[in-house]
Amino acid sequence: MKRYGALEAGGTKMVLSCLDSQGNILERASLPTETPEITLPAIIEWFLAHPVDALGIGSFGPVDLHPTSVSYGYITSTPKLAWRNAPLLPVLRDALAIPVGLDTDVNAAAIAEAMLGAAKGLDSCLYVTVGTGIGGGLVIGGRPVHGLTHPELGHQLLRPDPDDPMPRGVCPYHEGCLEGLAAGPSLHKRWGISGQKIPPDHRAWEIEAGYLAQMCHNALMAFSPEKIILGGGVMQQEFLIPMVRAKTLELLGGYLEVREVTDGLKDLIVAPGLGINSGVMGAWILAKQAVGETIPA
Ligand code: ADP
Ligand code: ZN
Repeated sequence: MKRYGALEAGGTKMVLSCLDSQGNILERASLPTETPEITLPAIIEWFLAHPVDALGIGSFGPVDLHPTSVSYGYITSTPKLAWRNAPLLPVLRDALAIPVGLDTDVNAAAIAEAMLGAAKGLDSCLYVTVGTGIGGGLVIGGRPVHGLTHPELGHQLLRPDPDDPMPRGVCPYHEGCLEGLAAGPSLHKRWGISGQKIPPDHRAWEIEAGYLAQMCHNALMAFSPEKIILGGGVMQQEFLIPMVRAKTLELLGGYLEVREVTDGLKDLIVAPGLGINSGVMGAWILAKQAVGETIPA
């Protein structure tokens, strides 16, 4: 019976899983993301102790996804300086001597949602995580979108909310980008308490939902996904999705006259069908694909 490794490579932690051919998680471990010199050998050690036939990686980015590039599978220009130009995929592939599949963390989650989750049976979906950062994975025509590098949805520019006391956001690269305005750390900076502790009736959430609605509006106009799936820590505030739907409808202004929109977006803007497992299932799918296997329907 084959075993498949899944690595969810995040900026704060690495989650390592070992799964069977049905996608059941057999073993799991979590390591802090330190420097590549410390963390990569620790990952190798774990997978040598829990042997797998293939590995799938859903990685934080930016990451080089061009298979023909000399830096394929390297982390590229990340603000996490120790990981800049770190050869994530090649080091693991060479040490473990197994096929390795790779995509961004959010593309992996989007693939899993498209094949097994909220967008199952559809050709397209956008998966957005709203957590420490904001990232978006896009599946169009059944395939994850890469392109020049890969989409960096979190860094799209938004219109500032006139009630926002921090309208420039906190991104070191851009003034007023989505991640800088709406990820968990920006909530904390703006209001002085972490997102978990902000009460549901606080005006923080009107502003937050407004920014996420601008993103949904822009995504519908730019990519026309059949589902927008919102995950990540901040989205655990369950009242947020209905607020985002209502504000997206306002922003659309009646422009899209399709059933999914006129219905109030309740089937279009949704929570992940796989709950918190979109990432691990995406990495499992990448591992299967790395050995030429398809996913059972
Ligand atoms: P990561 O993005 O690091 O993988 P998360 O998706 O859990 O992890 O995101 C962490 C961020 O989300 C933190 O900034 C945290 O304050 C915020 N967060 C986590 N849980 C909640 C919650 N229930 N409500 C609001 N914000 C939350
Ligand atoms: Zn930015």
